[in-house]
Parts: sequence; C-alpha cells; structure tokens
Amino acid sequence: MKDCIFCKIAAGELPCYKVYEDDKILAFLDIHPINKGHTLIIPKEHYESSLGTPDELLKYIVVVAKKIALAVMKTTGALGCNIGINNGEASGQLVFHTHWHVMPRFANDGYELWHGKDTAYSEGEMESLATQINGQLMAKA
Ligand code: 5GP
Ligand code: ZN
Repeated sequence: MKDCIFCKIAAGELPCYKVYEDDKILAFLDIHPINKGHTLIIPKEHYESSLGTPDELLKYIVVVAKKIALAVMKTTGALGCNIGINNGEASGQLVFHTHWHVMPRFANDGYELWHGKDTAYSEGEMESLATQINGQLMAKA
C-alpha cells in the first residue's frame, strides 16, 4: 500500500535488519526496541491490523512467531518474551500494517504489564457483559 512504511520494508524499498523471510512473512528488528532483539513480524500483504487479517494468514503467523520467539530468546539469553499485538489507535497501534511484536524479557528489566486501574463492575454487570459478548459471537457464528 502506498505510503505504508511496512509495505516499503516488505518490498525492499526501505532497509531493515531481517530476522526471517518467506513468501508470506517478513520479520525484522524493531527500530525502537523495548529490549535488544525486539522483533516485528509482518505479513508481506497489507492489512491494517491483525483483526482484519485473514484467518489462514494469522494461523501461519502464529506458528512462525513461536519459532521466532524461541530463536530470539536463545540468541539474547532472554528468560521469557511477550508477544504483543496492538489493534487500533486506542490500543497504541502506530503503524497500520499488521505486525506482531516479539519482545524478549529479562528479570527486573523494568517493564511491567498493565496494572488494573480502579475499574470495578457493578452488581450484575459482569454477567450482563459476558452475555452480551457471547451474543455477539453467536450472532456471527
Ligand atoms: P505499534 O505501536 O504500531 O504496535 O508498533 C510499531 C512499531 O514499529 C514500534 O515499536 C516502532 O518502533 C516500530 N517501527 C516504526 N517504524 C519503523 C521502521 O521504519 N523500522 C523498524 N524496524 N521499526 C519501525
Ligand atoms: Zn502496509
């Protein structure tokens, strides 16, 4: 897609430090890593986010992501990793071409997952919300 930075990287029009490539996928080092070895996995085809990406391609990405995560951990000596996907601006997505983050993690590296805020359900709200979400899923099944 024109003006998409990750399409340009996939097409070889912009440089990257490549970690893996095949006919469907490219993986390369993130330019602003949370830790060294932070890798991005993208489909070569342009989709705005993972939620709009075809199921078959996502299934393929998850298997490659597992292999890449293990390789990143082995190479960096990381003790764990987060695999992250931001979907939409509100979630922190900045580049609107599907990408998965593989982020190597070390003990006491200063990162923490989100802490719950003071969000609290009122009486009966959890049941109602779960039922509504289930209704959405069933309507689409
Ligand atoms: P998002 O917030 O959209 O999930 O993450 C986008 C990621 O892409 C960020 O972590 C950012 O550092 C990375 N990024 C943005 N532009 C480039 C680039 O030109 N090259 C590389 N290698 N990474 C990029
Ligand atoms: Zn793109």
